[in-house]
Amino acid sequence: MLKGRSAVITGSTSGIGLGIAHALAKEGCNILLNGFGDATEIEKIRAELANDFKVKCVYSPADMSKPADIRAMIALAAKELGSVDILVNNAGIQHVAPVPEFPDEKWDQIIAINLSSVFHASKAAIPLMRAKGWGRVVNIASAHGLVASPFKSAYVSAKHGVLGFTKTLALETAKEQITCNAICPGYVRTPLVDKQVDDQAKVHGIPRERVIAEVILKPQPSGRFVEVDELGALTVFLCSEAGKSITGTSLSVDGGWTAA
Ligand code: NAD
Repeated sequence: MLKGRSAVITGSTSGIGLGIAHALAKEGCNILLNGFGDATEIEKIRAELANDFKVKCVYSPADMSKPADIRAMIALAAKELGSVDILVNNAGIQHVAPVPEFPDEKWDQIIAINLSSVFHASKAAIPLMRAKGWGRVVNIASAHGLVASPFKSAYVSAKHGVLGFTKTLALETAKEQITCNAICPGYVRTPLVDKQVDDQAKVHGIPRERVIAEVILKPQPSGRFVEVDELGALTVFLCSEAGKSITGTSLSVDGGWTAA
C-alpha cells in the first residue's frame, strides 16, 4: 500500500518505534531506523527488515536531544532513501519523581527528546514533503498528552506540548497533501514500561505481577496492555490514502483510560 515511500521513525531500535518500523516496512516503505542500543543487535534488525520486506533500510545513531543530529538524520534519509515521505516522531524517555525532587537535567532531557525533537525533525522534513507534494507526520504522544498522573511532570508537559504542536503543524499544512496527527497510547508492554514496573515494585514493596495489575494497569479500564502491533496498524492507516482528511487530531489507543 505504501510501496516506495520513505519513512523515518525516531527511537525505532526498541518497543513501539520498532513495531511501527516493522509495520511500515511490511507495506513496502523504505525505512530509516534510529535509536540507541547494541550495534550488533541494531545491524541484525536493519538487515532483517531489508531482507524480509525487500526494502531499503538505513540506520542513524542521531541523538534526539541534539538538533544538529536530528538535521543530519533527515539529511541521511534524503540521501539514502530519496526523501522523507513519512516521519514518525516516537523517541521518548520517562522519569518519575515529585516536582520538588525532579532533577533539572532530567526535565531538560525529557523536554528535548519527547517534545523539541518533534519540532526539529518536522522542521527538517516538511520541506522535503512539500517538494514531493505528499507527506505524513505521526507523533507518538501518550494518554499523558491528554491527562496527567502524579510524579510525571516533565513527561506529561512534553506530551501535552506534542498535541499542541500536532495541531499547529496540521493547520500550516492543511491545504497540502500533508497530514499531521498524534497517537495517544495507554500502557504498552515495552522496555520503557518494564523499567517503571521494576521501579514501582521497589517503591511499593510488592511483586511485579501485582504492580502490573494494581498500579500500572489501574487507569486502563480494559485491564490489559495495548499491543505494539495495534499502533503499527494505526500508523499504516494514517499514512494511507484513506487517512488523507484526518489531520490535526489525536487518536487514543488506551483501552478506555481517557474516557473515564
Ligand atoms: P522504549 O524505551 O522501548 O523505546 C524508546 C526508543 O527511543 C528506543 O529505540 C531508544 O533507543 C530511543 N531513544 C531514547 N532516547 C533517545 C535519544 N536521545 N535519541 C534517539 N533515540 C532515543 O520505549 P517505548 O515504550 O517504545 O516508547 C516509545 C514512545 O511511545 C515514547 O515516546 C513513549 O513516550 C511513547 N509511549 C509509550 C507508552 C508505553 O506504555 N510504552 C505509552 C504511551 C506512549
